[in-house]
Amino acid sequence: MAKEVKPVFSIPTCDSCSKPAILEQAYSGRILCSEHMAKSVRKKIGKELRNQLKLPRDKDTTIFVAISGGKDSAVLLDSLVDRLGQRPDVTIIAGTVDEGIDGYRPPSLQCAQELCDRLGVEFITVSYPELSFKEMDEVATRIPNLTKENKQAPRMPCSYCGVFRRQGINHLAKKVGADYVALGHNLDDMAQTVLMNVTNGDLERTLRLAPHTTTPVDGLAPRIVPLRWIPEQEIHLYALHRDLPLHHEECPHAKGALRWRHREMVAQMEADVPGTRHGLLRMADNIKQLRDQVIDLGGAKARPAPPTPCVNCGELTSAKQCKACDLRALMND
Ligand code: SF4
Ligand SMILES: [Zn+2]
Ligand SMILES: [Zn+2]
Repeated sequence: MAKEVKPVFSIPTCDSCSKPAILEQAYSGRILCSEHMAKSVRKKIGKELRNQLKLPRDKDTTIFVAISGGKDSAVLLDSLVDRLGQRPDVTIIAGTVDEGIDGYRPPSLQCAQELCDRLGVEFITVSYPELSFKEMDEVATRIPNLTKENKQAPRMPCSYCGVFRRQGINHLAKKVGADYVALGHNLDDMAQTVLMNVTNGDLERTLRLAPHTTTPVDGLAPRIVPLRWIPEQEIHLYALHRDLPLHHEECPHAKGALRWRHREMVAQMEADVPGTRHGLLRMADNIKQLRDQVIDLGGAKARPAPPTPCVNCGELTSAKQCKACDLRALMND
């Protein structure tokens, strides 16, 4: 007679119901099934939206949602439509900046369009050449020569792309008269940015970190980041739970970027000491809060200097000429 085979592993069950768990939150000690994971994600987004998005009673609000075809911005748009889509005083418009990256951007644009069609949201795009920037594939091939001729020229494609993309998002937000710009940064992204700013000794950037609800930059629609407390892994699980159309590929120019090093570092630290990501983000919040308290006490100097229009393109900048114009000139020389 065949021996009874006992299972070696037993699947843990959710700590809120008896269904099989799909997620173990080391940082909170919770074990969750798909339904309760989704509930926890929705709850966190709801709380952040209440804190970050202040809808005036006497006028309509337009929210521009920067989407990429990837999971984070898909969850962001889906959640905003779910919560605010029925409100007659709120208009949600989504858009993507097309950097000109062959094999990566075209399929992700398709996913972004599909998501918008499904949610009934208007979808707009702008390409780098439309903003008088070179396409990223061309930038990447020209970097070795550029850095040979000019020691100051950035060495990584992302250093160009990040600057151009910010202008692209500003351009689209301005085009639709946005009152808010929503970005899909998750907890891992935010923690990496905080760590990068710390290792650069860059207090200014830490103070300028989104959300901008309490410290709007004059002339720019405040950025909101409703996913900022949700780990990347949970966003991914939630996107699958919602069956959202997703583009999974990584950008071919991402390798070697400094962010990757910080990504690895934050992931390693989180694995060793769960809660590290939350700690980094809380640290940035505390610094921002301290600045707000100093301003409240009359320390006007603690207020970030208001940006002024770039002498060349009119975009707001803290220097005479904006970074995008510097890089554009470098590329066109
Ligand atoms: S990884 Fe770098 S080059 Fe690629 S889209 Fe992002 S910022 Fe641009
Ligand atoms: Zn459950
Ligand atoms: Zn400029």
